[in-house]
Amino acid sequence: VTAVSGSHPRYQGPVVDVHVHYDAASREHAARVGEIGGLRSAISLWDVVWPPRPYEEDLAGWRAHEPRLLRCFVPDPSRVGEAGFANEVEHDIHAAAGAGCVGMKVWKNLGLWLTDERERRIAVDDERLDPMWAAAGDAGLPVLIHVGDPPEFWQPLTPDNPRYDDIKDRPEWWYGNGGFPKLEAIQAQLEAVVARHPRTTFIGAHFGCFLSVDELRRWFAAYPNYNVDTAAAIAEMGKGDVTPVRDLVLDHPDRVLFGTDLARTPAFEYPDFGERRWDLTEYFDRHWRFFETADTSLAHPIPEQLPWTVTGLDLPSDVLAALYHDNAARLYRLPAQATIDSTVT
Ligand SMILES: [Zn+2]
Repeated sequence: VTAVSGSHPRYQGPVVDVHVHYDAASREHAARVGEIGGLRSAISLWDVVWPPRPYEEDLAGWRAHEPRLLRCFVPDPSRVGEAGFANEVEHDIHAAAGAGCVGMKVWKNLGLWLTDERERRIAVDDERLDPMWAAAGDAGLPVLIHVGDPPEFWQPLTPDNPRYDDIKDRPEWWYGNGGFPKLEAIQAQLEAVVARHPRTTFIGAHFGCFLSVDELRRWFAAYPNYNVDTAAAIAEMGKGDVTPVRDLVLDHPDRVLFGTDLARTPAFEYPDFGERRWDLTEYFDRHWRFFETADTSLAHPIPEQLPWTVTGLDLPSDVLAALYHDNAARLYRLPAQATIDSTVT
């Protein structure tokens, strides 16, 4: 059965969501969410529990249950100081790829609060992690990475902070007390990693780990291995004049991947719809309207946290196909059952 959503304003093809979080308790709903969103497949990064569970524990069960829900390998960089870390992470990455993982996920704790065995903060570009980045490239696993956070998370936590409500819900994600590296420093660390590992594909979560449009343009030109997803980024992408963002996407249609950041686990519910947690039609429709229309004053997917409206990008059809499906299929080398079946028209 080819999933087709009837509520796209213009697009009529398959969609892959490259950024979701499920766990064993919520994975049964993946098929239903796929129907609602018209998804060909979705890539579950990880269940947002730290430290990550060994991939062997649940991989087989997940694959048997919902073949369109694809998995990532999640390394634990805090073990970087242990003897044998390099060999072990290399082995695990290749084994995970062999067992069906399609990517590797690295979370923002790296560079912010993750420490090694001597309690020292681990920088994103810590050279001891180089074997990990290299092995992901060797194994053909793209690295979906989220480092840093929105710039407002470093600004004073007062009601005029545009992210005030967002931060108030998770005060541990406020870095304005001077105890954390600056966002620009973390981004520079990521740049060093991307530059050092040209054979590894990186996908910067949340429209590129909070780089400005000018910086993204520079990175795209300098690093053919750097890509971005759109997860939880529409409120920022569509704020104010969208011309710079639209021009960037039009100039680099092969570098932007559709993702939502839908999280449905006991540990983490995002966005939080309470009782209506599986009622996601409007959530997906808000994504489609943003990418496919030029409408102004659009509701974005998470207005409760970020109370403003957005303007649509009105992307051309070929760019929508790249964004929604083709880039993910290419970079993740998605298995045939998770991509377009060319015999189905
Ligand atoms: Zn996420």
